[in-house]
Amino acid sequence: MNITKNFTQLENFGHSLSASAYLIQPHTTEEIYEAFQLAKKKGLTVTARGAGRSYNDAALTGGGIVLDMRGMNAITTWDNSTGLITAQPGATLEQIWQRVEPDGWWPPVVSGTMKTTLGGCLSANIHGKNNFKMGTIGEHVVEFTAVLPTGAEITCSPGKNADLFYSMISGLGMLGIFTSVTLQMKRVHSGLLTVDAYPVHNLREHLSSLLDGAPDHDYIVGWLDCIAGGKSLGRGQIHATRYLHEGEDPNPQETMKINNQVLPPRIFGVFPKSMLHFFMAPFMNNIGVWGVNTAKYIASLRKHTFRQSHAAFHFLLDYVPDWELSYGRRGLIQYQSFIPKESAEAAWTEMIKLSHKNGLPSYLGVTKRHRPDKFLLTHAVDGFSLAMDFKVTNKNRAKLNGMLQEFDRIVLQAGGRFYFAKNSETTAETAQAFYGEETIAKFKKLKKRCDPNALLESDLYRRIFG
Ligand SMILES: Cc1cc2nc3c(=O)[nH]c(=O)nc-3n(C[C@H](O)[C@H](O)[C@H](O)COP(=O)(O)OP(=O)(O)OC[C@H]3O[C@@H](n4cnc5c(N)ncnc54)[C@H](O)[C@@H]3O)c2cc1C
Repeated sequence: MNITKNFTQLENFGHSLSASAYLIQPHTTEEIYEAFQLAKKKGLTVTARGAGRSYNDAALTGGGIVLDMRGMNAITTWDNSTGLITAQPGATLEQIWQRVEPDGWWPPVVSGTMKTTLGGCLSANIHGKNNFKMGTIGEHVVEFTAVLPTGAEITCSPGKNADLFYSMISGLGMLGIFTSVTLQMKRVHSGLLTVDAYPVHNLREHLSSLLDGAPDHDYIVGWLDCIAGGKSLGRGQIHATRYLHEGEDPNPQETMKINNQVLPPRIFGVFPKSMLHFFMAPFMNNIGVWGVNTAKYIASLRKHTFRQSHAAFHFLLDYVPDWELSYGRRGLIQYQSFIPKESAEAAWTEMIKLSHKNGLPSYLGVTKRHRPDKFLLTHAVDGFSLAMDFKVTNKNRAKLNGMLQEFDRIVLQAGGRFYFAKNSETTAETAQAFYGEETIAKFKKLKKRCDPNALLESDLYRRIFG
């Protein structure tokens, strides 16, 4: 295998980080193992990459080998009577929902973009807007197969090789490479969801709305205006959403058709969506976002209920292709903290105030309600998460980094956790403090067993495990 001509510069999703690596696209398990053998011979590290949708350095390994898993993206079996689907790890959530929805099923957990791959989703153990109810994607995995750097091929389920099942899912791709995944889909009776949209006027009301609204809904998510301060700090809008019951939709076969899920390719029937990020770019500064947020908040004051397709509700961001480019050449950092419900209000008040004091407000804030799970490197808590997007510039990078370290301190003090599909500044000391010594020791022991030559290493792994 000659890899020298494939030395390529790769970026994270937010375009704020990059690293050059030898890119290999395997099509079989044997080719993955060959890449491990080559890495061992040449003294290189290996990292898998799905769709590259992580906001941080999870799918980068500077100077190493990156396995582009999109070459293994077949859906191998789909049983529309049981809702069980088996696919290769490079299959995307887009492929999965488009295969199952016309038959009356929907993936039980999805990310805010449909472009992610199953391998990436399992490695991060993604959560959706229904985390409080359905847990993480790992809770719906019936079985997976993986190849370890030793060449061993393993099958894991909650009852078979359970230690590896609960650690490879959430394991940041550092124990082995998924080669096949079997997932249980969720039965749905319509292609539509009912969305209750209502405003919240401050952070206390915001968090109590998430808490009180969750039990009566299937999904709940909040938009938080991170620019507003004073008595309005934490204001925003909640979308609390329900599946339609059987019989509520008079024509489910029609609403579940793929054509009725996707949004039109043009805005107002004129502008191609692909141009939208150019229109957004001039507003991506403190004053522009203040104006947009204020208008959005005023528009959200009318409490209303409407129906929306599953795809439009979950994947709204995908309808603005390349929206991240509107943040400019240095891109964006997303910082997502997970904080227990008792301490979230105080911690996020402090963080938002700090961002105002530094003149570095977040341009987008999204809140969710969560529950804990039993995966080894879990990010979830019985509480809430707040994801904040920050614009990066050459001028603000050092100051932003310093502020995010301060955020980490506040999150730790509040008993919170971090999510390594997102945060890109968190240090090894912070990661060790929130995972705890016992978890780290357990993970390192498994790592030694699965990967005795330490071939699997990403930039993220080096950053948080030292
Ligand atoms: C717009 C947007 C919205 C998002 N919304 C959410 C959300 O709502 N909830 C949420 O939880 N996350 C969300 N994310 C984060 C995203 O779901 C995760 O970062 C996910 O891991 C990305 O999947 P990917 O296929 O792009 O993987 P990559 O980013 O390419 O890789 C992620 C990790 O998976 C590993 N990996 C990839 N394939 C394999 C494999 N076959 N075997 C072993 N390891 C593998 C990589 O080594 C890496 O560590 C969002 C991201 C974006 C860009």
